[in-house]
Amino acid sequence: MQPEDSLSPKRENSPAQSEVEKIVALLKALESGSIDEIECPGCHKNRMRVWFTNPAQGEYRTWFVCSYCGIRKRVQASCRPAFYREDLVNKELEAYDRELLSRRRLRPE
Ligand SMILES: [Zn+2]
Repeated sequence: MQPEDSLSPKRENSPAQSEVEKIVALLKALESGSIDEIECPGCHKNRMRVWFTNPAQGEYRTWFVCSYCGIRKRVQASCRPAFYREDLVNKELEAYDRELLSRRRLRPE
């Protein structure tokens, strides 16, 4: 086993950051006003960017997409996110969310 970059802090030694913690960190970055250049929880490069979708009336999703490693994180909201901006709506992601939503409606849990 090759040691990895010994200069970088060993994040792997601490308990893995949970999905929820990752999302919370991303939302915090958004709250502080960042809409891009957010640190990606996967590759740790500042290449994450936020997108919003509004797949149905009263349904909002916040997406974080990394342009470096391709990780996507999706957050559902039952109300309009405080930082929602029309010009940050991604039509491609919105179509995806609409598709998911319509499937969920066909098969209620
Ligand atoms: Zn990444």
